[in-house]
Amino acid sequence: MSGFDRVLRGGTVVTATGVREADVAIRGERIAALGRDLPPGREEVDVRGRILTPGGVDPHCHIEQLAATGLYNADTFETATRAALAGGTTTVIPFAAQHRGMSLREVVEDYHARAARGAMADYAFHMIVTDPRPEVLEEELPPLVRAGHASLKVFMTYDRLRVDDEQLLDVLAAARAHGCLVCVHAENHGMISWMRKRLVARGYLAPKYHGVSHPRAAEAEAIQRLAVMSAFLDQPVMVFHISTREGLRAFARARADGVKIFGETCTQYLLLDARDLDRPGVEGAKWICSPPLRGPEDRKALWDALATGLLDCVSSDHAPYRMDETGKLARGPNPGFHEIANGLPGIELRLPLLFDAALEGRHIDLPAFVRLTATAPARIYHLPAKGDLTPGADADIVVWDPEVTWEIPEGPRFDDAGYTPYAGRRLRGRIRTVYRRGEPVVVEGEVRAAPGSGRFLPRTGGEAARPLGRPAPEFDPARNFGAELL
Ligand SMILES: [Zn+2]
Repeated sequence: MSGFDRVLRGGTVVTATGVREADVAIRGERIAALGRDLPPGREEVDVRGRILTPGGVDPHCHIEQLAATGLYNADTFETATRAALAGGTTTVIPFAAQHRGMSLREVVEDYHARAARGAMADYAFHMIVTDPRPEVLEEELPPLVRAGHASLKVFMTYDRLRVDDEQLLDVLAAARAHGCLVCVHAENHGMISWMRKRLVARGYLAPKYHGVSHPRAAEAEAIQRLAVMSAFLDQPVMVFHISTREGLRAFARARADGVKIFGETCTQYLLLDARDLDRPGVEGAKWICSPPLRGPEDRKALWDALATGLLDCVSSDHAPYRMDETGKLARGPNPGFHEIANGLPGIELRLPLLFDAALEGRHIDLPAFVRLTATAPARIYHLPAKGDLTPGADADIVVWDPEVTWEIPEGPRFDDAGYTPYAGRRLRGRIRTVYRRGEPVVVEGEVRAAPGSGRFLPRTGGEAARPLGRPAPEFDPARNFGAELL
């Protein structure tokens, strides 16, 4: 007897490094073997004509998150991860979001409890730090990192969330000392705030002015400043949701200079357009996200950056708000652009939208699809059992039928946003089955996972902890690296 619980037989297996015909054998929660003519398992599954990819890893999604406005986004862990699974994403990294004055430890405990109740996908957290006071960074942070939370997120903009330059340095130094990656929303706060005030004062309030209020240069400036600070303290950073050509250029320069900098973009910056905001009335509010949607030249540059490997991953930045008084219209039925919650739903369709592009050979191929949506985020964020189809990995597998073409319907999906900005698109490739740790959790569009069956993934293999100034180095003023003395 082979001892295999299940053998998926005769499919086309795609990994980040290639495409091959192979059977996939599952034992318990893991992939036991990959190869041709594997011995039979207790259950045989015929996947001839199907394409098998690793379950998606969505490293940037907002789930059951409290905004600074006091508003929760539309999803609970149950509805968001139900949508994630339905779309082939088996691992998510949402946020534990501190607001000013809050204890980071209590915040993490709160999100832990919510996820334990509802999550159907496996999960980890990035800890959002908006209040990097000494007790947070020196007392609360170290045990949290040791408990498996090996990444932080900070905002360089938003009045109530942002850290200033000194605080950013504090966070980078703490991350370096305790061994975690720092993810950053990089936009210049002053430029956005200056533009917003002037637009509002002149009565430019329609949703489309949201795009104008986030100047393209604001992104490039912040990425450049972040890269300089990252290099100054020799602390790795991840630039979230790069959206412009100018931002990409700043990012590429930092990479070329040897800065330890990772970069992502999101599905919406690849597929949606600033003109989507210009619809009658408040309809455009559905397309408001930050950074805002841009133009065709930006999309082309972003796709190129994915194809060449300049950018590391594509996340959803799922941030759902309903088009009603609980969400986008919380400030009234006719809000100005500056009164509308920022964010789009996208956790479900990230994989199907990109799989369609890869299958049709638009910009990326299938191995690049796997690298960008699963393998690279799993490696960058230290999830060693995730993001690959290889013996020993968790058996998180998406089985696609590449022959079916379907149209995304209007109206609600598995999440709780009540709409999708991608309605009406025709996609090639349909998910037939999703396995999470060996169990079929989605079968022909029906999600079968139980709320709370997702598992917390502690990430203890983080960056090496490197306290500043220990051991005391010999200081060479010519090197302009005073941080060594701290
Ligand atoms: Zn986000």
